[in-house]
Amino acid sequence: MATAEEYMPGFGTFEDDGNIYSTAIGSLYLDEGNKIARLDFKNPPLVAFDEDVVFCEVTDVKPSMVVCRIQAMEGTSRGITGETMGTLHVSKISNRYVEDASEKFRITDIIRAEVIQSRPSIQLTTAKPHLGVIMARCNSCREPLDRKGNKLYCESCERTEYRKLAKDYRDVKPC
Ligand SMILES: [Zn+2]
Repeated sequence: MATAEEYMPGFGTFEDDGNIYSTAIGSLYLDEGNKIARLDFKNPPLVAFDEDVVFCEVTDVKPSMVVCRIQAMEGTSRGITGETMGTLHVSKISNRYVEDASEKFRITDIIRAEVIQSRPSIQLTTAKPHLGVIMARCNSCREPLDRKGNKLYCESCERTEYRKLAKDYRDVKPC
């Protein structure tokens, strides 16, 4: 975007190997007078705070935790900037004991989660009825899975899968 020799990295930008990059969607603003590169946001930057409810895509599942990318915050149409990765520890998935997080979540699942800690890293919980997976795809054919009671089912593969489901799986009302 710009070179660090010409401009100091400012808010919303970072420097890597002498170049300045933007960390979020916005237009780069180069302050000629002060030689500061920063981003101008159309909307003010939105960061997650404790008790915010967020929508995320699962990007990694380990036995002890789920890693996800926060995509939106419930109650606003604006995107999220700043720290956008969140961690869901296996003990925070459900009120019931979960031995391995991969029993309840898979990569690419879309989940609704609540922020229980926002600094220094975002920690999430899904241990409430309206929290958990709101959309999941079949692990085999990638078609969206249908809900059958507390399980998920793929009509074409005739396969059953298991998730920590939100009450309104595939029936999320826009707010
Ligand atoms: Zn399938």
